[in-house]
Amino acid sequence: KVRVRFAPSPTGPLHLGGVRTALYDYLFAKNQGGEFVLRIEDTDTARYVEGAEEYIEEALEWCGIIADESPKKGGKFAPYRQSERRDIYNKYTEQILKTDYAYIAFDTAEELDAIRAEYEARGEVFSYDNRTRNQLRNSLALSEEEVQKLLDEKTPYVVRFKMPIDRTLGLTDIIRGNFAVNTDTLDDKVLVKNDGMPTYHFANIIDDHEMEISHVIRGEEWLPSLGLHTLLYEAMGWEAPQFAHLSLILKPEGKGKLSKRDGDKFGFPVFPLNFTDPATGNISKGYRESGYLPEAFINMVALLGWSPADDKEILSLDEMAKEFDLNKVHKAGARFSKEKAEWFNHQYIQQKSDQELLAILKNSDFNTTLSDEKLLKIISLMKERLTFVKDLTLDNEKGKFFFEAPASYDEKASKKAWNDQTSAILGELASHLESTEFNAENLKQAVHDFAENKGLGMGKVMMPLRLSLVGELKGPDVPDIMELLGKEETISRISNAIN
Ligand code: GLU
Repeated sequence: KVRVRFAPSPTGPLHLGGVRTALYDYLFAKNQGGEFVLRIEDTDTARYVEGAEEYIEEALEWCGIIADESPKKGGKFAPYRQSERRDIYNKYTEQILKTDYAYIAFDTAEELDAIRAEYEARGEVFSYDNRTRNQLRNSLALSEEEVQKLLDEKTPYVVRFKMPIDRTLGLTDIIRGNFAVNTDTLDDKVLVKNDGMPTYHFANIIDDHEMEISHVIRGEEWLPSLGLHTLLYEAMGWEAPQFAHLSLILKPEGKGKLSKRDGDKFGFPVFPLNFTDPATGNISKGYRESGYLPEAFINMVALLGWSPADDKEILSLDEMAKEFDLNKVHKAGARFSKEKAEWFNHQYIQQKSDQELLAILKNSDFNTTLSDEKLLKIISLMKERLTFVKDLTLDNEKGKFFFEAPASYDEKASKKAWNDQTSAILGELASHLESTEFNAENLKQAVHDFAENKGLGMGKVMMPLRLSLVGELKGPDVPDIMELLGKEETISRISNAIN
């Protein structure tokens, strides 16, 4: 049975890379008819951020990535929060000590700092490993009596993994293939801290085993831990799951990892967690607030490192799940592109009905007195120009002028559209319009007749008219705009422009 987990630590908001990991976990599980589990890895209390767990669940839900088992939902392997699984870990700590795959170490932080400094003074790098462990204060180096004495004195200790000496491990990753690691390059990692809580490595493999996880799909930053994890499974006498490590998401330039520092430029987390980014001091902005539709966001994220068989680009979550294939996940890092992200949003806006877009607009913090009927017409006129629904109210080119008279007129456009006679012409047109019925068809005819009567080319009338109504020489057909603005507003904007 395929079981996949997403195992975030609640240390802050969910960023693009985390969402992609969760999404690939989910897609693979669903593709295989398996289960997707959310597990909160909160053993590191120093990095714990209040509210982050709720945030993660909300962010995943917004994305449509719904867990079959989670802290909130429960499940047959509950609890799904590591801080509540202490008893389970204790049992396995005893086991790994008893079988001699691990040992206890009494070294204090100060002692370790001192020895590190000694090494550095000699131009060497200290590592707690099979070359140095004999010189330190642990149950491998001390006599049984000494160890007992320290224990009787209640000296705090940690549990460390006894890294085997000079063993070459053959490791397999679904995305990267086979590679080898020699254990002499690895150190004796702490498995249990002196407060009795396991570290990430130990809790992680215990839970993956206990929760019957079949595939671990996670970020590339965990690849260096694969050797240790493989040895831990061996030490515990458990079969290891299969592993797939996802490549980094790169900056648009293609060089370097996309980082939280790029947040401002890219609206980086899914949405902000009342959270000041320590890197910039700014409150982080999110995709949700920027106006991304969850379907578009998730589609964009999915294609950062995976392409479906026929290179199709627009896929729903279900379609992605049907087609997802770990063997088609790219080994090379994927470049994030803001333009591409916006392109996806634009595409998904075109797929939405006017009614759906209206619901989104009314859900935002935007207020208007316009009727739904008018709003729907505006939406249907402007839809194909929208990247975000809220552009409608923010950007003249995309429809802001429907809600607000232009505050100024584009300078270049004015030069082009306006001459000495224009004010007089528009003045006359305005009085002509007083007696015109305001529907687009009529208005088109009326402006046309007016221009013909005056012996003017259409452009001489339409251009300044557009400028008066929109503030720019952009937007949909002028008669459509006039109909939507209505007689009073149209005439008022014309007189504003000519006075
Ligand atoms: N808690 C780890 C993290 O925050 C999980 C890594 C893993 O999936 O093994 O990324």
